[in-house]
Amino acid sequence: MSGEIAHFVDGRVLRGDAGRSQPVFDPARGEVSGQVLLGGEAEVAAAVAAAGAAFPAWADTPPIRRARVMFRFLELLNRHRDELAALITAEHGKVLSDAQGEVTRGIEIVEFACGIPQLLKGDYTEQVSTGMDNWTFRQPLGVVAGITPFNFPVMVPMWMFPLAVATGNTFVLKPSPLDPSPSLRIAELLKEAGLPDGVFNVVQGDKVAVDALLAHPDVQAVSFVGSTAVAQHILSAGAQHGKRVQALGGAKNHMVVMPDADLEQAVDALIGAAYGSAGERCMAISVAVLVGEVADRIMPQLAERTRALKVMDGRRAEAEMGPIVSAAARERIAGYIDAGVREGAQLLVDGRGFRASDAGPGCEDGFWLGGTLFDQVTPAMRIYREEIFGPVLCCVRVPDFAAAVELVNAHEYGNGVSCFTRDGHIAREFARRIQVGMVGINVPIPVPMAWQGFGGWKKSLFGDMHAYGEEGVRFYTRQKSVLQRWPESTPKGAEFVMPTAK
Ligand code: NAD
Repeated sequence: MSGEIAHFVDGRVLRGDAGRSQPVFDPARGEVSGQVLLGGEAEVAAAVAAAGAAFPAWADTPPIRRARVMFRFLELLNRHRDELAALITAEHGKVLSDAQGEVTRGIEIVEFACGIPQLLKGDYTEQVSTGMDNWTFRQPLGVVAGITPFNFPVMVPMWMFPLAVATGNTFVLKPSPLDPSPSLRIAELLKEAGLPDGVFNVVQGDKVAVDALLAHPDVQAVSFVGSTAVAQHILSAGAQHGKRVQALGGAKNHMVVMPDADLEQAVDALIGAAYGSAGERCMAISVAVLVGEVADRIMPQLAERTRALKVMDGRRAEAEMGPIVSAAARERIAGYIDAGVREGAQLLVDGRGFRASDAGPGCEDGFWLGGTLFDQVTPAMRIYREEIFGPVLCCVRVPDFAAAVELVNAHEYGNGVSCFTRDGHIAREFARRIQVGMVGINVPIPVPMAWQGFGGWKKSLFGDMHAYGEEGVRFYTRQKSVLQRWPESTPKGAEFVMPTAK
């Protein structure tokens, strides 16, 4: 067992004295690899105080100089990409190549943030009244916080802090206690890039730290990504304390397979999107909607490919799927498989029978589950209604395209969705009619690029602004409007009526 994983406040590691901690596991081996400290009110207060003290000078730093820090950070991220990926795999379990992909998607947001001078350009209107001009510009909010889930310990924080910091805010990150180490490494790299102390801080912890952040009067805005129940709590508690909130919640993403789809492509897409990262992705496909006779053709192939998945220690080069993040998550997912069987779904491949010894040497005590495939799932079943967040693919059969659209639209989640077809009209209708925030046409995991913004609909996003992209810039800034005139054009005498253009 290695050491303690602490907080990072005001440019240095902070132990704090909350007195609480929890073990961090290597999920492939089931061994404790460290002990993360769980911050409380005092640690949150210290981080917010450091961020508050750093804010005036950082907000006053010209955007081009803030961008230069981002450019140096970008260089360091590229240099340390594999090291960050290895940290992710060690605590999350996902396969190394997938972790490298995660770091790359995070890096893209930093690349976008490097363009902050352009993104912060305001509007100007000359001569709104005689001798008077009006312009608007955007200024940072102050201290802002990010609360992030376990499933992307590098990428999801990078949905938030690059834009928050580049726009001139100072930041407090509260990562998931399941995989806390990458955040500390990021803090070190930001410091090495020249970010002034106090601009980026990390408080490790759980609900206690989150609630302290929500209640702290100096925290102006909170970005959250995690499960829907917690997202709703963050939205209401944040609003109650007068904060700006964006809270991204859970998901149940469907992939519709039309009878005219390229079947080989559809099978590849379903296998990768359902079982990649052990299904622990907010954009994972967890429901296949099989239209018409495509079901009978595709099911045998899906079953064969699910059985053939290479489930093993994510550090092994040939691994396709790693372990589940924790013993508790493994039990929760296995419980859903039990429920699916009880409710009458047809279990074609049962991941509960996976032998840990097949995952590689030393993996006997890891948190293992094989890929699981259900056919004949119906909308009334719990395995259909609820987010399982594991390697379980539920197949629902529908008669036609209209029924597929109706099914997807009736679900309470609306994060991502995909349609595989060769028909341009169907593709267009699908994109227009589907009640989901992020749509893929022959793309299984349609995660928008850094400049487009990420966000679902319905119970997948609370608050009205997306993560990153231009909406990210707007979320972390507020508009100021200036009306200006100079003495030569200022009329004499007080005016008592509503000012209008003259
Ligand atoms: P989670 O909701 O358990 O935890 C998210 C964060 O909230 C963590 O930092 C955690 O410490 C904190 N937290 C947990 N319980 C809390 C409570 N009661 N009060 C206050 N804070 C609390 O989520 P998770 O298990 O870490 O991540 C998986 C979930 O995240 C899934 O539901 C997944 O769909 C979702 N997710 C969504 C997106 C998206 O873009 N919509 C992206 C990634 C993950």
